[in-house]
Amino acid sequence: MSIKENLTHIQTQITKTAAPWNRAEQDIHLLAVSKRQPQSKIQSALDAGHRQFAENRVQEAAEHWANLKPHYPELKLHLIGALQTNKIKDALALFDVIHTVDREKLARKLGAELRAQNRSIPCFIQVNIGEEDQKSGIAPNDLPAFLEFCQRDCTLDIQGLMCIPPENEPAALYFALLQKMAKTHNLPNLSMGMSADFEKAIPLGATHIRVGTRIFGQRGS
Ligand SMILES: *Cc1c(COP(=O)(O)O)cnc(C)c1O
Repeated sequence: MSIKENLTHIQTQITKTAAPWNRAEQDIHLLAVSKRQPQSKIQSALDAGHRQFAENRVQEAAEHWANLKPHYPELKLHLIGALQTNKIKDALALFDVIHTVDREKLARKLGAELRAQNRSIPCFIQVNIGEEDQKSGIAPNDLPAFLEFCQRDCTLDIQGLMCIPPENEPAALYFALLQKMAKTHNLPNLSMGMSADFEKAIPLGATHIRVGTRIFGQRGS
């Protein structure tokens, strides 16, 4: 199938999955994850009219998007990978939404740079929902204090929570946990669900699903 057909197919899946849960499909954003994909495939998605994309590395995102972005005023770029503090300026030059606020040093420096630029952008806190050593993110127990730190001390516009559930475990369990945490703190958005499991994330409140391979095919290395 072509990229255009994949996008149409996934959009149909979103509509179908959302309907029984009384969720409006415009509240569910399909982020096309274009990391490690060739420029030609990115262009195909743009030609198909898609305008919301996600990348996990600042440098690669600049290679993919710096020249393209000015031609697509409605384009929104989401950062879904770890952000090093020395890349904050580069990231802010390119990205519209940051999903990976995951530690105090980053929150503090990101807030300071945004204030210096007199800007605000939507941010998500990444939660290490399975409390895995190899994953970044705030431990669930630390979320209340970290959220307050982000909002009050760093003046960040925290709009939601993001997670990547542990592999080979039922994702729905972790999506439900993240949904509960967001509700407790009155955060409206949930960035959860990927190619393998976005259908499970939608009933549990996902507002931003991050889909790579099911749109673009296998990634390069
Ligand atoms: C790569 C990536 C995705 C997309 O994964 P697919 O399985 O290709 O859909 C989603 N979220 C994050 C954080 C990623 O790094």
